[in-house]
Order: sequence, then structure tokens, then C-alpha cells
Amino acid sequence: MSAGWPGMTGATDHVRVGTRSSGEGTCPDYLAAKAHPALRPATAARTRKEKLDTFPLGILNAALDEIERNGAPTAQAVDLAVEEAAGEGKRPHPAALTWVRAGVAQYLAGAARHRDRVQPADRATVLVRDYWVASEDRRASGGRLWEMYAYGRRYESPDGSVREIRILHYGIFDPRQPAGDRQDAQGQDSQEDHKLAGRAAQEALAAYSAAFGVAAPWPRRWSEPFQPSRVLRAPAGPIRLVRVVQVGLADGEHHVVFEGIPAKAKREYEGNGAGQVRRAVTRGVPQPGGGCAQCKLRTACEALEPLPGILGITDPGAPVRTWSAASGRYYSRCPAQAHLYRLHLPRDREYSESAKRGQAVHAWLGQAHGGPGRTPCTMRDIPASPDDWSAGRWHVTGEEARRGALMLGSHAEMCPFHRASQLGEVRVEPLLTVHDTAANVIVTARPDLLYLEDGSWVWRETKTKARPLRPGTDLLAEYPQLALGMILLAENLLEGKPAGRRVELELLYPDSSDMILLDPNDHAHLARAREVIHDLAAPWHADETAVPRPGPECRSCPVRQWCPDALPLADAGPAPDEADDDEDGEECE
Ligand code: SF4
Ligand code: SF4
Ligand SMILES: [Zn+2]
Repeated sequence: MSAGWPGMTGATDHVRVGTRSSGEGTCPDYLAAKAHPALRPATAARTRKEKLDTFPLGILNAALDEIERNGAPTAQAVDLAVEEAAGEGKRPHPAALTWVRAGVAQYLAGAARHRDRVQPADRATVLVRDYWVASEDRRASGGRLWEMYAYGRRYESPDGSVREIRILHYGIFDPRQPAGDRQDAQGQDSQEDHKLAGRAAQEALAAYSAAFGVAAPWPRRWSEPFQPSRVLRAPAGPIRLVRVVQVGLADGEHHVVFEGIPAKAKREYEGNGAGQVRRAVTRGVPQPGGGCAQCKLRTACEALEPLPGILGITDPGAPVRTWSAASGRYYSRCPAQAHLYRLHLPRDREYSESAKRGQAVHAWLGQAHGGPGRTPCTMRDIPASPDDWSAGRWHVTGEEARRGALMLGSHAEMCPFHRASQLGEVRVEPLLTVHDTAANVIVTARPDLLYLEDGSWVWRETKTKARPLRPGTDLLAEYPQLALGMILLAENLLEGKPAGRRVELELLYPDSSDMILLDPNDHAHLARAREVIHDLAAPWHADETAVPRPGPECRSCPVRQWCPDALPLADAGPAPDEADDDEDGEECE
């Protein structure tokens, strides 16, 4: 066992921090484990590998290498990159390749514009295969070997005196928006701040490794240290200029975010990078979430609760994936759509106006319930200008804004804080994560509100609706997060008193509200919940191809721009009735 790492083995005197981990806003222990490349689980999990490629940026980079190094035409370069991936047992989804081809074209056009903006003497035009690795080896004195490198495209001037790193993003890179390219739905301020710090650290680390790094090929094994390149290069004089460029592949635009001499890169690193690098290698309080699927501590981590069997699937050797009720719903609409969400390909018009209204209402209530007091919401606690208001990152205007404000008024009589004196712990939109070890799936859920009432947990989901539910609606099938809530309460994940625990569905209409209670202690209801979750998860779990299912969904599909099977709009049938569309916007990991 490795000291300080129960359940793990391997050397801990070797640390490696790349720009990706310095910018990842996930669990501190995940980052710390990742930063120790020789650390591995003491008992290796025997699981199958994914057949579909899940990292299209890798294919795009390989294609660009072929074009820039060997002058291959784009189509041939992409074919070669696909062949290379096939050699490693990975097959990219056809829609991901549409994105790769578009990204390659945008990148090349943007690179030409960027080149023209840089003074000829300062251009970095020669593609560099090696990584630039800044390292400090203190092992001789009982310390550690530190390696810092940047993941991006690397170029240098023919005389080696100018070095440039370009960091690629899937969508548009907006220097004012720190959230990066994942377009996630959880725009809480603390996360934004974290990502901003992450990006500053990423850029500082990139500048530092370019200024002081030694050229080194990717190690044969991840656990081995980088070794300096033996390839003879152009006579390398001192490095006089370093540049860090952020590139959005949606428009190819190259944004220079750092340019300066090595001394400036060092100052930048000391100011913005070094602290983050130290934090990246230090353990903290584990925070389970979707990232657990990629974490090498997964089998050793005590914070990740194992709940075998909650999906009703037995296949412990399956490739580990993440699932939520939302990702199940995306999959049931179209397997390809769910896969492209998982790849984080850019989405277009993701939220209808009514879905934005639903998000804004949720964000408003989240803020109202998350404050320090437990003041009940009243009819007066609605936006001051009902036809133009914002909550969190959601801004609504016009008819949907007015509707949303009325729905907030309808919440007043449903507010759980009218019974504040009976409530114990309250958690607003908590992220719950468990590992269904029987299916090898990380399952996540984010209830709108959890509260402890007389020692029993209550799981509340709020839905905004313009019209009443259709009579006879199967609530658990319509809103599978209710079914997942029933199961997690029944499994006593939250450890409250079993009697009295319940799931509440709060329905908010413009002129009224309703509350439906679901009892996880009722065997018939619980059996139906398990059936719903199994039926939603099982086809997804067995799927290794994500074949598109063209149909009416294509009309409003946010990833149709990448999908070669998208039905033409004229054939996709009528637009879905959006007036009642309260999407919860949960991310598909
Ligand atoms: S398994 Fe999850 S909670 Fe545990 S260290 Fe890894 S990411 Fe963090
Ligand atoms: S365009 Fe249609 S077929 Fe393609 S991913 Fe979207 S819903 Fe599926
Ligand atoms: Zn309230």
C-alpha cells in the first residue's frame, strides 16, 4: 500500500501536473490521485473498454498533425487519425467525425489569421511533436520529482527562440467567460470563480512549461517519468519569447492570452500557477460526482457510496460510465444525441423558451431556499419586474417571464419553510452520487431540495407547467428523477428514519399549485420505480454504438449540426409542444 493512500499502491514521489488537471474543477482527491502517475489501485478492476471513442479532440489533434507535418489533405488526414484510433480499439461516432472535420477547417483558417497578426520575426510556425516539460527532481534529497507540462498544440520558430502553446476548446472561446467549453447548466458563482482560477492557472502553467520546459516525448508508460527527447533539433539558443493562445474550434479564433519573455512567464507562474499546482497534488475532502467515473481512486474511495443493483442490471465488468435520470431521458429520445452530449460537443439552441423559464424558476427558488434564514416564500417574493427578470445564469423576458413570475407566486403556499421549526437539515440542489457496482455505473441525482422533517428525509422535485398534467399520467415514467429519488430513499442513502420519508412532486402552474406525494415504503410504488429506472437504463447500458434514431426529435435536437442522419426539418414533423416543457437541464456526463 502507498502511505497516505489506502487501497492504492505505487510510488508517490513522482508528481505530474498538466494544464488539464490544473483547470479541472472536480474533486480534490481525484486531482491529487491523477497528479501521482505511478499510483494505482492495489486491486486492478477488470472491466471492458468502451468501443466508441470518447475523446474526439484526440482524433482532431491527430488529423491536424498529419496536415501540418505531412501536408495531407483534410479528408485523408481524418481517415488516418481514425485508423490510428482503430488500432487502439476505439471507433469514433460518425457525428463526432463531422465535428472533427469542421473543427479542423476552422482551426486551419484561424491559424492563418493568427499568423498574419504576429510579427514575422516572432512567429512560431514549426509544429513540435514533443511536450515541453518543466521539472524539478528532488528525489536525491528525499523529495519528489515534479513534472509540469501543457496539453495543447506546440509550435516553435525555426531557430527555437519562440515557443507557442495553443490550447483548444470545443466551442467558442470567450476570454470574458471563464466557464470553458462544457456549457454546463450549473452556473453557480463559486464554480465560476473556481474555473476562472483554473483558467488563470492553466495559462500560467502553459507559459511556464513553454519557457522552461525540456522537449520530451510522451512517456511509453504513463507511470514513467518524461525523458528528454533524443531527436536532434535546430540549434536551440535561449528562448526569448513565449506565447499562450486559447483557440475556440467553433470559430477557429486564436486568442493570445500570454506573450512575454521567460522572466514574465515565471512571475505569472509564481502568481497564478504555483499555488494551484500545489493544491492539485494535495488531498482534501472528496466530492463525489460525475468525475468519479474517471477517477483511479474509485475502488478505494470511502466517499463514493456503493449501491449495487439500483439500476437492476448485472454486468460488473462493463466500462464505467455515468448515468442520471436526465441522461436516461436523452438516450430514450435518441442514442446518438445522448452520446454527443456525453462528448460535450457544442450544442445549439439547447433550451426552448419554456425550458429557460423552468430553469429560471428553479434558480430563483434555489436562491430563496439557500439563504441563511429559513424565511418562507410569500406571494410578494416574486421578481420586481415580472416581464424581465433573471435568476442565476437565466434571463427571461415577455410571456414566459410573466408566467414564471406567476409560478413563483404559486410556490408560496407550497414552501416547506412554513414548517421551518419542524425541519432539520436542508440541502438545496445537492449532488448525490453513488456507484452501482453491479452495473459499474456512477449514478448521479440532483434533487431540487432535500429536507429532514421529524428525522425523515423528504426529496422534493419542483416542476413548472403551463397546463395541468394529462389525466392518467404515469408520474414515475414522465419524471424518472422521482423514481430514482424513491429508490435512493428506499436504499436509505441519506440515513434518516424510514417512516415518513417521501418524494414530493411540487407542480407550479401560473394560477395554482399542486403537491403529489410518493411513498418509497409502498412496495408496489417502489417496484414500479425500479421498473422505470431499469427500463430507462438497461438499453443505454447495453449500447456500444449509439446509432442515431432520426425522428421528430431531430427538429429541436441541439446537436443536429453534427449528425449525418438528422432528418431534414421539413420531414421531421411538427415542432413538439413546448409550452409545457420543463426540462431540468441536468448534465449528461
Ligand atoms: S471516487 Fe469520486 S469522490 Fe472519490 S476521490 Fe475519486 S472523484 Fe473523489
Ligand atoms: S439529429 Fe436526430 S438522429 Fe441526429 S442526434 Fe439529433 S435526434 Fe438523433
Ligand atoms: Zn419557498
